[in-house]
Amino acid sequence: MNVGGVEIGGENPIVVQSMTNTDTSDVMGTVAQVSALAEAGSELVRVTVNNEAAARAVPEIVARLSDEGTDVPIIGDFHYNGHLLLTKFTECAEALAKYRINPGNVGTKHRDSNFQKIIQVAIEYATPVRIGVNWGSLDQRLLTELMDENALLPDPKDARVVLLDAMVQSATRSALLAEETGLGHDMIVLSAKISEVPDLVEVYRVLADQGDYPLHLGLTEAGMGTKGIVATTAGITPLLIDGIGDTIRVSLTPEPGGDRTEEVRVARQILQSLKIRSFEPQVTACPGCGRTTSSLFQEMAQDIETYIREKMPVWRRDYPGVEDLTVAVMGCIVNGPGESKQADLGISLPGTAEDPRAPVYMDGEHHSTLQGEGMVDEFKEILEKYVQTRYG
Ligand code: SF4
Repeated sequence: MNVGGVEIGGENPIVVQSMTNTDTSDVMGTVAQVSALAEAGSELVRVTVNNEAAARAVPEIVARLSDEGTDVPIIGDFHYNGHLLLTKFTECAEALAKYRINPGNVGTKHRDSNFQKIIQVAIEYATPVRIGVNWGSLDQRLLTELMDENALLPDPKDARVVLLDAMVQSATRSALLAEETGLGHDMIVLSAKISEVPDLVEVYRVLADQGDYPLHLGLTEAGMGTKGIVATTAGITPLLIDGIGDTIRVSLTPEPGGDRTEEVRVARQILQSLKIRSFEPQVTACPGCGRTTSSLFQEMAQDIETYIREKMPVWRRDYPGVEDLTVAVMGCIVNGPGESKQADLGISLPGTAEDPRAPVYMDGEHHSTLQGEGMVDEFKEILEKYVQTRYG
């Protein structure tokens, strides 16, 4: 499936996506945030299209992004009034690279016909659609129907099992209706987001078993900070390891005034940690302990990470493959030499009462030994030369 030039599904790399939290009718604010998300590595960006002002703003947002050279495809997120907005604001419908429809939020009385109106717009503009079920807004008619059927069984299933079943059925029945309306099978992505990790894993395993639609993975309402990062990682990692998932989004709640791009960095780090994709060189650092003489190694690890991040725009252009580079910065002799030898380039700093010298290892072999105040700069020089020689 082609979403504004980004391929999703099949053998294509798993795509990182994100969502803005600006008011979409604020064109400049939304353009700035989309640019920041794209710069951080988001390959698709979703914006809410919740009212007429937002729908009117979308074509301008897309045009401005294009003018400034940010060609990230924009996805529109629709709830309740998507059928009205997409039929009234045709330029918005045309400018978007994908529509997200929540089948639980397309109305009650005219549910199917509202849903089909959106699908007809998607067919007209050849725009892919994500049918995105969310347990917080699950189709209540379907849930009630399945609960009633379950109650009549001689041995009724647990309500949680019925809820998960309703999520899967909401996604698959809606996909079937979209296809019956005329949308191509290969124009549909599915998601079934839930905020409990074990339920998420279960529901996606069933979805993956039941069909071959590309799947968008994400733990909904993951939360803030450490909790959000850990819960998302715990939820999507078992699925990714099993080969389930074609695009991911990390739904972190930023701290007030916090950086929205963190969700992109976390998503990329999950994929890179699992060795599914490579985005940037990885710095391995030990956690430090009572054997660490000072904060030197922490500062050095941070310094090297910053150095690599700053160098990456040039390195990525001039040294293809550099994103696979591994660098180790270790605190003492216990694991330092061993871990450093495993990395492409590593340095083992001296711990308490150790010889105040730091051996450097390159491709598993001892390369040199550094000491004194200029150690960090010397290591950076060695790193720069290594990158030029190996990837140049
Ligand atoms: S490598 Fe040394 S300093 Fe680092 S955690 Fe292990 S024992 Fe502690």
